[in-house]
Amino acid sequence: MISDIKILIHQGKQSIPDITTVDVPGLFRGRPIISNEQTDTKQLVELCPTGAISPDPLSIDLGRCVFCGECQFAFPSRIRFTKDYKMASASREKLVIQEGRDEPIIIRPEQVRKEIRKYFGRSLKLRQVSAGGDNSCEWELNAAGNVNFDMGRFGIEFVASPRHADGIVITGPITRNMSEPLQICYDAVPQPKVVILAGTDAISGGIFAGSAALDRSFLDRYPVDIYVPGNPVHPLTFINGVLDLIRTR
Ligand code: SF4
Repeated sequence: MISDIKILIHQGKQSIPDITTVDVPGLFRGRPIISNEQTDTKQLVELCPTGAISPDPLSIDLGRCVFCGECQFAFPSRIRFTKDYKMASASREKLVIQEGRDEPIIIRPEQVRKEIRKYFGRSLKLRQVSAGGDNSCEWELNAAGNVNFDMGRFGIEFVASPRHADGIVITGPITRNMSEPLQICYDAVPQPKVVILAGTDAISGGIFAGSAALDRSFLDRYPVDIYVPGNPVHPLTFINGVLDLIRTR
């Protein structure tokens, strides 16, 4: 007992006290800012491996961006990735960042279905479905529940059975082989069901977009509640996005 207390005193509090303001160390790339400086737009568009950059006005689609940083390396005066990890959005269109705009991405209460706030404001259980994922987003979502990020303190947890879940979190580009299991999982979740797309692969197919090995028709059948960009998704992006979905802070 005494030794346990000594360990607790020695280690201190391990969870991040405020997940909305903490600085992310290292090479993390968050919401980009595009300046109005005139550069070779054609070259910039062509260097992007996923077609995330569009001209007129120059913009980056965070739902397609794999955050490789190539555009920033080539045109550092035009594109700069900030450390703003609050990138989740309730609308697909808001993931497109246009030149000259430096505004946070916000999920407004009116964008959220009323039943989500009513039933899940203090507790949300999620079933994660890796639909052809490469384990990167899956690892980061797993990390969201560790002692550091401690997602469980907000009442958000992953559960094993979709029957015990309030919604699903889809990672991966949704392969043909996973389209039916995804549908079965979705059907097993009781109403009202929350649908979250986590990561570039889930949002747009990422580098696999257009592949014959994908079947993304699930997304034509059901509405998505939030899109969480990242490649992989950062735990802070995910937790902040889900919190903005289920409650007003
Ligand atoms: S960081 Fe994103 S927008 Fe820039 S080149 Fe890579 S994928 Fe394209």
